[in-house]
Amino acid sequence: MAEEGDIWEELSEIPPDPPKMRDKCSQCRRPSGVCWCPGLPKQPLNPASRIIILQHPAEVKRCLRTAPMLTLSLGNEKCLTYIGKKFPSVTKHNGLAEILNDPNTILLYPSPDAVPLNEVNAVGIHNQKPYNLVLLDGTWPQAKAMYTASPTLKKMRSCKLVDVPTSEYVIRTQPAEGCLSTLETGAFALSIVENNPSIRDEMLGPLKHLCKFQLDNGAVTHQSKEFLVKQKSYPKLIGKRLAKQLKTIPDTQKLEKDC
Ligand SMILES: [Zn+2]
Repeated sequence: MAEEGDIWEELSEIPPDPPKMRDKCSQCRRPSGVCWCPGLPKQPLNPASRIIILQHPAEVKRCLRTAPMLTLSLGNEKCLTYIGKKFPSVTKHNGLAEILNDPNTILLYPSPDAVPLNEVNAVGIHNQKPYNLVLLDGTWPQAKAMYTASPTLKKMRSCKLVDVPTSEYVIRTQPAEGCLSTLETGAFALSIVENNPSIRDEMLGPLKHLCKFQLDNGAVTHQSKEFLVKQKSYPKLIGKRLAKQLKTIPDTQKLEKDC
C-alpha cells in the first residue's frame, strides 16, 4: 500500500503542461521572453462602458494579436468576445443579439454614415448610459467581409475614430493612414466615451512594453549583419510581418515621445 501511495504522489507532481510549454507565459501564452504582461494595468480596469469584440475565426490563430491585450486589461465583465464570420448567430452567440439591438451600442466601423465618436455624448452627459462598443477583430478584408455578411451590423449606429494618431506601433500592415490595431481602437474609443484619457494610457501599456522590447533588441537602428541574423529568428516569436514592419519605425525617441 505504501508503494502505491508513493506512485500516486509522484504522479501528482507531474506538471499538467508538457515541458515545452513551461517557458510560455500562462497569461498571454507568449514565450516568456516576449511576454507583454508587465505592461498591463496593475488591476484590470473597470470602466462603465464595455467592449464587445467580434472576432474572425482566422484571427484566433494569428501569431501576434492585440485583442488579448484588450481582454486582459479590462475586468471580466467589461470585454466580451464572440467568434464568427456572421453576427449574430442565433445558436453560437448567446446574448449578442440583445447587445447589438441595445440603443447604447455603437459599432466602431468606418461605414459611409459613421459619425465621429467624439460627437456622441460621453457617459453621464444628458443621462447617457454606459456604452457597448463593438469592434470587428481581423484583417481589414476580414472585417469588411464580416460587416457585409451581417445585416444586423449594417443597421447599427456606427462611429469612427477621428483625430487619433496613426498607429505608433505598426503591429501589422495597415492599409491606410489612421488604421489602428484592435487594442488601440478599443483604448481610444473607451477613453473618449468615458471622457478619461488615463484609460487609454493604461490600456496601451502592453503594446508599449512589446515595442520597447523589440526596440531594445536592436530591431530598429542596427541594420547590421548581427541584426539580420537576429531577424531570422524572429518569425518564430513575432511573425515575419511584424519583423518587417519593425524595420520601418523611424526611431525610438519618436515612440517614447508619443507614448
Ligand atoms: Zn504574459
